[in-house]
Amino acid sequence: MSSLLLLKGISAAPGLAMAPALVIDTRPLIISKKVITLSDVATEWNRLEDAISKSQHELSEIMEKTKQQVGEDEAAIFQAHIMLVSDPELIDKTKNEIKDNLVNAEYAFQKVSLEFIAMFDAMDDEYMRERALDVKDISKRVLRHLLNVQEADLSNLSEEVVLVGYDLTPSQIATMDKSKVVALITEIGGKTSHTAIMANSLEIAAVVGIKDVAAQIKSGDLLVVDGNSGEVIRSPDDSAIKKFNRQREHYQATIKSYESFKGVASKTPDGKLVKLLANVASLDELKTAIRNDAEGIGLFRTEFLYMNRLNSPSEEEQFQIYRQVLEQMKNRPVTIRTIDIGGDKEVEYLHLKKELNPFLGVRAIRLCMQRPELFITQLRAMFRASIYGKLKIMFPMISSLDELLEVKLIVERVKEELTQEKIKFDSQVAIGIMIEIPSAAIISDILAKHVDFFSIGTNDLIQYVVAVDRLNENLEYLYNPYNPAVLRLINLVIANAHKEGIEVGMCGSVAGKEEMIPLLLGMDLTEFSMSAGQILPARKIISSTNYKDAKKMASYVLSLSQAKEIETYLHHSQATSDLSSNLSPNLSPT
Ligand code: PEP
Ligand code: MG
Repeated sequence: MSSLLLLKGISAAPGLAMAPALVIDTRPLIISKKVITLSDVATEWNRLEDAISKSQHELSEIMEKTKQQVGEDEAAIFQAHIMLVSDPELIDKTKNEIKDNLVNAEYAFQKVSLEFIAMFDAMDDEYMRERALDVKDISKRVLRHLLNVQEADLSNLSEEVVLVGYDLTPSQIATMDKSKVVALITEIGGKTSHTAIMANSLEIAAVVGIKDVAAQIKSGDLLVVDGNSGEVIRSPDDSAIKKFNRQREHYQATIKSYESFKGVASKTPDGKLVKLLANVASLDELKTAIRNDAEGIGLFRTEFLYMNRLNSPSEEEQFQIYRQVLEQMKNRPVTIRTIDIGGDKEVEYLHLKKELNPFLGVRAIRLCMQRPELFITQLRAMFRASIYGKLKIMFPMISSLDELLEVKLIVERVKEELTQEKIKFDSQVAIGIMIEIPSAAIISDILAKHVDFFSIGTNDLIQYVVAVDRLNENLEYLYNPYNPAVLRLINLVIANAHKEGIEVGMCGSVAGKEEMIPLLLGMDLTEFSMSAGQILPARKIISSTNYKDAKKMASYVLSLSQAKEIETYLHHSQATSDLSSNLSPNLSPT
């Protein structure tokens, strides 16, 4: 039995939870080469055959389950995997590799499968090229068995758990059984990793950056997770459990107290109206947004529709989803963002080249410009859906006017195509861009003349302004929205948008941070888009913040020169909820 241990990480999504841990091994498989002797060959062959037969067995089970729960067509994929894993050429080649070069089974199998993958990848035929993915998939499965690494089926959990892993990918979060996972804990990742963002939207507590997590927590250990403070207690004793129960009651009472802010306008006492919108990534999250009284969708991250599948969603499939979102939001604005694949959002079947710096690579709009077929399919689906509500289309990662103009040309081409095909769409759909790259923020006065709206993406803006990877838990102290350089850029973008008379919102995580809301209000931000659970607390803040005090506060904060003093000042103001009297002697400029 493990004994009580307090672990400190980084708070990534609020909430309190208690449940046993389910530790999943998410580290990449490490295959090392071992030299064997001739007398070991038979043992290695047996290990290989055993791993192959376990893989065949596992695949047959998955195939049966898929047949019953999804359908024959989808199950056929696993039939193909069974054939591949049983392929005599693959097995014989691996056996020869073991015997001829006297190496261990996993090393030999990886070498031979990489040759197969390279062969398929080099083929002209699209269908054959996609087989490379299947080989990758079965190869991982066989290697897992050879290395004895278990893979948990997250979509099918029998009891509530806290999911613990070195890393959890957005696609694992998307497929897990959300009714059973009460909290997430990871070793790597920052507050704005997409894993953390999804946990927020799903209202699941999350703590990232727990050092050496696998050594500290074993499956079955009871855990108390405080997503607000970033603290985790392993094997809590009676008094820790009592404290947790008290805190949970208090937390639930606070959540309940927000109910009175449903159905009221987001308006300051002196009459300034703003809009509080939700960020969503699926129809599931849309329900949470509606439940929390979102005044619209400020960001629909469509890339999640492309994950956990074998090929891109078709135009029709996307159209149906966008139409549902628009219809369910009943004429409230819905900003759908074109795919932001790349960075930490991988989609295997697109065969993206491995890059040294994926966040600085072929990501988002850059990928769309390199794969126009993907882009055009998505735009067509969006425009077709536009007649069912109030659609706004947004492009991520715009870095220059040239890029924006090229994108707009494609938009015009899609509109022309639809007109020729006599397909109805709303020709007045607003077109906007995310401001999340410093170059775009700096020339926002120029860009504002070419779009209908801006949405500031602070998750990326911070990482690019400060040159700090948003996933790197060791640089958390630098990834900081209070950095005066970040605040000045935000202020500049808002001012430039107003000068050109276009709408300006923010959909990065800063928009939902309670202490930042009065400051952003004072900078004249008018649309705040955040995780659904943050909307009512934000409305409470807006309802008790005078716009004219917020303006004074913004000009004071913009005069400060260090992140630390800004952070202290904002937290102090939030705690005392009094902006005007807060320019305390030790904080105000002398
Ligand atoms: C952002 O960068 O702030 C943003 C909202 O986009 P994402 O988090 O999906 O990169
Ligand atoms: Mg971004």
